[in-house]
Amino acid sequence: MKIHLRMKCKACGYWNRIEVDKLFIEQPSSEPEVRVLIPFYKPLKVETCKKCRSVIAEPKELIKIIRGKHQVIPISTKLNLWILALPISSIASVFIVGFYFYRESFDASAFSTAVSSLLSAILVILLVWERLRDSLFKKLEYLHKNFLFKLYNGTPHLFWTLDGTKKLRSDLGKYAKFLNLQLCPSTLLKEIDRFLYLHGEFYKRYQEIEELAKKQIEKPINLTRDLLQYHIGLTDYHSSSYTDEAEEIYKGIAQTITKENPKLVSEAKGFIEKTRESEKQIHSQLEDFLKSNNLRLELEPSVPWL
Ligand SMILES: [Zn+2]
Repeated sequence: MKIHLRMKCKACGYWNRIEVDKLFIEQPSSEPEVRVLIPFYKPLKVETCKKCRSVIAEPKELIKIIRGKHQVIPISTKLNLWILALPISSIASVFIVGFYFYRESFDASAFSTAVSSLLSAILVILLVWERLRDSLFKKLEYLHKNFLFKLYNGTPHLFWTLDGTKKLRSDLGKYAKFLNLQLCPSTLLKEIDRFLYLHGEFYKRYQEIEELAKKQIEKPINLTRDLLQYHIGLTDYHSSSYTDEAEEIYKGIAQTITKENPKLVSEAKGFIEKTRESEKQIHSQLEDFLKSNNLRLELEPSVPWL
């Protein structure tokens, strides 16, 4: 199926229209009876930006549209809609309809009474709205300081502080509400849940790997996790430096484990990779949310010592 797609040029920001083929690709699903089809778009030819000529799409790279990314509505807009726009427009329309039906029996004094009561009703709503808006911003500040910023700042190392992440997730579920407004996008909460699930699945397998490794060393208490994870292929680097002998030992251990338990190792690798992807998603969703609500993305500047 050929369709047109609007694509933003990464280099200059110009929106280009390109022609693409829509395809569906099946994603592996956790439940065997469920087929997960994800739409992808395949450019028909190498497309360049009309403004700056840089390549924006080519047939060998499929385009995936991430839904929900451009739909971040600032919380204050939602509040305006629910607290301000809805009551005022409903009161005004009741007034207009009433006036239309009873216009014959209306005299000048009844009309002016009706108008003044309409105006005072609107004034009351405005006052209430202002108080609500103030407390909404206080609440957002509170959420930002205590949870959202911590979470944002924690990426990309959320799995180093897993208990902290779990706590932040449950606090967000509890406190990120204001009247009936959800102050934190539900897609973000879902992504954090997915992250925790994926990490849990990874960790189960990793623990098994560690048990297997412990059987191969003389003093299981002294297991060097850093080296084990590196040689199994769960990370691409290890921070500290080790003796060549230690490197050799762990290389051997990792080879034995991988040879004897190929499924375990490949599943662990798959889950850690998905965990990292999910963390990137969390980071970008948080960034969108914070930006759209004018909340800080940097640490608060510290007060210089006098
Ligand atoms: Zn461009």
